[in-house]
Amino acid sequence: MTEKQIVVHYGELSTKGRNRKSFQNKIAEQIRYRTQSLERVKVLPEHDFMYVSWQETDYESMVEVLKDIPGIAYFEPVYQVDKEIQAIKAKAVDLFSSLKIQPGQTFRIIAKRQDKTFPLETYDIQRELGRTLGLAFPDLKVDLKHADYSLRVQIAQKDAAFLSLNRYPGLQGMPYGSSGRGMLMLSGGFDSPIAGYLMMKRGMEIEAVHFSSPPYTSPQALEKAKKLTAKLAHYGMPIKFHNVPFAHIQEEIKASVYDNESMTVMRRIMLRIMDQLLVKSKADAIINGESLGQVASQTIKSMRVINAVTHTPILRPLIATDKNDIIALAEKIGTYDISNEPYEDCCTVFAPTSPHTRPKQKTIEELESRLDLRMLIEEAVQGVETQVIGEDYLVAKQADFKELL
Ligand code: ATP
Ligand code: MG
Repeated sequence: MTEKQIVVHYGELSTKGRNRKSFQNKIAEQIRYRTQSLERVKVLPEHDFMYVSWQETDYESMVEVLKDIPGIAYFEPVYQVDKEIQAIKAKAVDLFSSLKIQPGQTFRIIAKRQDKTFPLETYDIQRELGRTLGLAFPDLKVDLKHADYSLRVQIAQKDAAFLSLNRYPGLQGMPYGSSGRGMLMLSGGFDSPIAGYLMMKRGMEIEAVHFSSPPYTSPQALEKAKKLTAKLAHYGMPIKFHNVPFAHIQEEIKASVYDNESMTVMRRIMLRIMDQLLVKSKADAIINGESLGQVASQTIKSMRVINAVTHTPILRPLIATDKNDIIALAEKIGTYDISNEPYEDCCTVFAPTSPHTRPKQKTIEELESRLDLRMLIEEAVQGVETQVIGEDYLVAKQADFKELL
């Protein structure tokens, strides 16, 4: 079986100077991780691009892997043939045969001649190939500027020529793990998984933190957050998932704090807990799914009072995003159906009937002084349960489910 090859191009990476090598290695590492079940996959980073070559499996499977890896701008399958014009022509015709060409569609040839001893000049290669394709596919016309299909031909220094016809867009962004580590506050809703996805795509390694309040919240609600974590793991590496027991704190808030201020107090306690987990995980930021004005705790006045308990940067990638666009992304990355499951999380169960949209910091601090915050926070942090969740978690769960039937 002949070797198959895809060339991977980076986006912003090419401007990142000294970090380039480590960024490239992160992409290479992720490709290796995602293809570990395939045999004889080779990943070879070059200066501006990376070769991925393999023997088994088809191109489609490799395209599926590469399209979801952050930091890849685009990639293209390349076909190696003998450095000889007849072989190049034959492969070109072969590649175009697999297309569904419509009358009036256009093509162009872009040749690069690195081996200057090759008998044909760049222009001659383009003209000869253009003529061959024109004869073989009469419906196709040449268009040098806005062609539907661009066939790239490279006459390499080594003993081969390379042809490529399809460019696939990559996920863009930065390589996973190249932009530090953040702790994602992950509920079971639509927003927070998307917030996590966007930061991962921007290169931030994430750990997920979920606050659960059994017995007020169900095991299914916890499961939902784990399944969302598994979906996110698809865009990076397996993710550490921390489950924080939050019921006692919520009971205490309910007993001692006015109903309409309880949401603000609860959020401030969540952040204090996040800060402690952050130290343990050596992370540098908190990520949440807040979007300005979406609910009472997300007015700017609320956010200011809630934010006041910490100096840690709180990243809110969705702050200016409309719900429609968040939902569209959720559908695209496959978190929608999980977030749509009906199980309520701790915030919904304890939600006040009319939360204050303009809380006063002084009032909130007074209310908090009624609680033994130190003890409550310590108890919650002590009770955290951590597990690592990879993409395969979903498959495993499905198998469990089938066994039950
Ligand atoms: P989401 O759809 O992400 O649940 P939301 O619009 O329902 O967001 P809130 O419930 O007010 O908004 O939560 C705001 C943010 O607080 C969430 O995006 C999430 O980052 C965090 N958060 C809320 N509940 C929890 C929870 N149980 N565990 C962890 N983080 C949470
Ligand atoms: Mg929510």
